[in-house]
Amino acid sequence: MKLLYSDAHMHSNPVEGLGARRIAEKFKDVGGWFIALVMLPPYHYGFKNGGLDDYRRSIELLLEEAGRIRETGLKTRVLAGFHPAEIDEYVRRGMGLEEILELADKVFRLIVDYHRRGLIDGIGEVGRQHYSTTPARIIASELVMLKAFEYARDNDMIIHLHLEQGGYVTVESIKILSEYKGLPKKNVFLHHVSPREAVWAEKYEFNYTLPAKYKTLKKALQNRPGKALVESDFIDDPRRPGVSSYPWDIPVRLKQLIDEEVVDEEYVYRIMVDNIVEAYRVEPP
Ligand SMILES: [Zn+2]
Ligand SMILES: [Zn+2]
Repeated sequence: MKLLYSDAHMHSNPVEGLGARRIAEKFKDVGGWFIALVMLPPYHYGFKNGGLDDYRRSIELLLEEAGRIRETGLKTRVLAGFHPAEIDEYVRRGMGLEEILELADKVFRLIVDYHRRGLIDGIGEVGRQHYSTTPARIIASELVMLKAFEYARDNDMIIHLHLEQGGYVTVESIKILSEYKGLPKKNVFLHHVSPREAVWAEKYEFNYTLPAKYKTLKKALQNRPGKALVESDFIDDPRRPGVSSYPWDIPVRLKQLIDEEVVDEEYVYRIMVDNIVEAYRVEPP
């Protein structure tokens, strides 16, 4: 059986890092067929004015990167959002939370505009900080997320959520909040989940992406959950090499788990291909 591999959540940075073309070529060489490409905060690409125009430039850069992935022959889905870390960053620069919420709303309108032109598939990342910050900033992040839920619902867009790893409470709160806004769960992706959130995400039929770490995958996949996806969350930042894994770690980790008989090839094919086709609504390879 020829195995194919997908990365369900990844970033590229053509300014600071390898850029999408080299990443996609390298991933293709090891059997990669699909990458979900997610926008980084604008200041990671060197856009540091802090306004809406930074987002427009970031989205344009993201679309060029997506084009490079397609040129390599891989399939892709493209997401742009307003990361909770951006809220902390703009507070540090002196912006008020109300002003930040207004900016986020403008950013979402811009993203929806690109979506209507068929250029952007979804919103991501939005959500809550996974690190300690002030309570008010967490609430602001949640308000931004709720706003994103409305846009995703009204435009049938997928949405990648960056959340704290709180097990049951993390997933339960997303269940309640997404139902409150009428967002269908097929459009919701809980990104970077640990096995503790994965269990609940599976139960509630959310999409979820597991980081490609040996222990995480072993624990989360041993019972062969139906909806699992795997991500590298690669940030393509040579100054922070250890923060996430590489897309090409995905085949390495999964082959290791096949060798150890934690999973079999058929199951790996299912999560690497069938689940991607269903969750991202792409044509099979
Ligand atoms: Zn994230
Ligand atoms: Zn990410």
